[in-house]
Amino acid sequence: MKRFLKKIVIYFGFYSGLFEVFRRIMVRKGYVPILLYHHVLEDGKKPAGWVPSCFELMGIGIRKNLLEKQLLYLKERYRLIGLKDYIFKKRQGADLSGAAVVTFDDGFKDEGVALLKKYGIPATIFLFGRSFQEIFYRHRIFFLLDEATILKTIFKTSSGEDILVDISTDEAKRETISRLSLFFGHVDEPAREKNFLNLQIALGVLRDYLPQDVYLTQEDARNLIKDGISFGAHSQTHRNLTLLTDEELSNEIVLSRAQLEALTQEKDVPFAIPLGPYDERVIKAIKKNGMLCNVTSDGGFDSRQEDIYRIKRVFVNTRSFQEFIYKISGFELLVTKIFEKLKRLF
Ligand SMILES: [Zn+2]
Repeated sequence: MKRFLKKIVIYFGFYSGLFEVFRRIMVRKGYVPILLYHHVLEDGKKPAGWVPSCFELMGIGIRKNLLEKQLLYLKERYRLIGLKDYIFKKRQGADLSGAAVVTFDDGFKDEGVALLKKYGIPATIFLFGRSFQEIFYRHRIFFLLDEATILKTIFKTSSGEDILVDISTDEAKRETISRLSLFFGHVDEPAREKNFLNLQIALGVLRDYLPQDVYLTQEDARNLIKDGISFGAHSQTHRNLTLLTDEELSNEIVLSRAQLEALTQEKDVPFAIPLGPYDERVIKAIKKNGMLCNVTSDGGFDSRQEDIYRIKRVFVNTRSFQEFIYKISGFELLVTKIFEKLKRLF
């Protein structure tokens, strides 16, 4: 029901021009969208019974043609600036209405990078330290499931567990992702590799994924800096920071910061919290370790009075252009707020 209502709101708001009016008001009031993207997928044909990529299903993937349309839209209507410049200007109290910032988390080596170069978008990409050596386990599961040639099977883990793998429908694929994520999220480091190999065989995947195929390398990043793209730190190991000890938390920030400083030859490094969760302790550690600013995965817009260590972002890994306009216009935020108020009333 909720999904159906959302579709109606998007259809009506987009084609009536309401979203565009709303967007202009938001810009005039000084609300700045800091956009959040992740992985960009190739376009490709979609045969009957086609099941979307895991990245799309989990809301962190966007098709290349849709991203291109979005970037062109942004370029036409906003003053696009890098996150660092944005923060410097914000600190000086400059007028930032009409500005927008494009950010990408995780540093995927994909079709998106070429588009950023093609259109001269000064995006900011957040890299996590380990991405130069290994693939984050959830991403690895996504790639394996997307490449699978066997649609339904039982994956036998090294601890004797049987996990049902079914990727024949959207819903089955989602459930499989959560079962596999639960297993690989808890399995000991030494057993992880062996289990991934067994999963790969069970799914009939021939291709071997290496970190340098999946994520930008240090050399890639250095080349992109020449194209006006900037980089930020996204922790060292891409874990839930709220679950770490003080020492581990500090290491996540300090190590990733040092790596980014060496890579960019610059002292000011923005930070992006991995996976979403954070608390007061995490924010304090980010500030204490001298990060320039911090962006979160909380949905919302930035404005003059917002804290630079709790910057909200607009999650735009959408499946349609209409939905993108719904989000960037700020209308989605309004709908969410109305729903929250109604919930409190009843
Ligand atoms: Zn991330």
